[in-house]
Amino acid sequence: MDLLNTLVDKGLRRELPTRGEALAVLATSDDELLDVVAAAGKVRRHWFGRRVKLNYLVNLKSGLCPEDCSYCSQRLGSKADILKYTWLKPEEASKAAAAGIAGGAKRVCLVASGRGPTDRDVDRVSKTIEAIKEENEDVEVCACLGLLSDGQAERLRSAGADAYNHNLNTSEGTYGEITTTHTYADRVDTVQKAHAAGLSACSGLIAGMGESDEDLVDVVFALRALDPDSVPVNFLIPFEGTPLAKEWNLTPQRALRILAMVRFVCPDVEVRLAGGREVHLRTLQPLALHLANSIFLGDYLTSEGQAGASDLEMIADAGFEVEGAETTTLPEHRADAAARGCGTGGGCGSDDAGGGVCGSTAAGPATTATAPATGDGPTGGTAPTVGDGGEGAVTAARPDLVAVRRRGAGTDLAPNA
Ligand code: SF4
Repeated sequence: MDLLNTLVDKGLRRELPTRGEALAVLATSDDELLDVVAAAGKVRRHWFGRRVKLNYLVNLKSGLCPEDCSYCSQRLGSKADILKYTWLKPEEASKAAAAGIAGGAKRVCLVASGRGPTDRDVDRVSKTIEAIKEENEDVEVCACLGLLSDGQAERLRSAGADAYNHNLNTSEGTYGEITTTHTYADRVDTVQKAHAAGLSACSGLIAGMGESDEDLVDVVFALRALDPDSVPVNFLIPFEGTPLAKEWNLTPQRALRILAMVRFVCPDVEVRLAGGREVHLRTLQPLALHLANSIFLGDYLTSEGQAGASDLEMIADAGFEVEGAETTTLPEHRADAAARGCGTGGGCGSDDAGGGVCGSTAAGPATTATAPATGDGPTGGTAPTVGDGGEGAVTAARPDLVAVRRRGAGTDLAPNA
């Protein structure tokens, strides 16, 4: 297939595909799916071998957010029956982080609900970062606290944060339909502030919110232009009690095509398989390891993932290996740029125009996948247009796969890691 040969060549050269090529990946048929995965897998292996980086989420503050992000179980007016609690103490957060690190995580992601941190919040998180680093010197810490004000990124950097996450989530054109309390431009600004402060920028998307293929390509191209070091790809978990509860738009095949497209557009970037993998990829999760080089271990912010032991087993069974602390995740050209404190440069996005998970990794089920129920057709929302790819792939609502987190941070029960 000429398209795939071209995309592999470009991926190995870190060359940006055209929009048409990216759209064509999303429009491939189910017959072509394994060819698409194999092609994007070549690019993944060129830059990251067969390593899988494990990341561990600690929800420092859960629920009660004044913002209205439609996909989020922690949003203003959410009826989702999630855990709600205010800031964990540094020692509580450090204990939760330790469970993930013991499970093999080399990055801990400290997330708090809210529009953005106050300076007092930055102080609290700084103490938490110090507590974690005191116990685990080599662990990477990523903060995800929402929109940053001037100077806050620098303070987090000084406290020892390695990275900052703030997702673009969806295209600029549709952002206003998803959230009204802040703008796409606000999000871009925070990614740029993190970058400018020398933090490794992490910014990604949520697929499955009723967006078109064009929207998906728009947001992934916008991410490439922002040049983050890591791109989390979330698949919407339609939480009961949120406005998007009926948006069951994704099939496992569609999720794989999206991941492949992200890999081709951002070839040398840490592509992280994030919230929703268990719900939407189900039994095809191992195929996604050929596309993404990073996953979250265990549970998400407000929902439960599959058992951490199952994550590790899946990685081993698929012939991949957990990346150790001694290995640098990013390819040399990107890691060198980051070490020089000049952002991430040199890679994805540096040669063309032109970076809070809070809420967006809040999704994920407790159960390992089972085959989708038949006869339980789409429950509303916009089924994606995927060319031939949608043939026979009726999207079935699977609310049974969405389990609210009831263990780990904010509870007396041991975390899943
Ligand atoms: S995504 Fe973040 S800012 Fe938006 S509602 Fe959820 S917690 Fe609040």
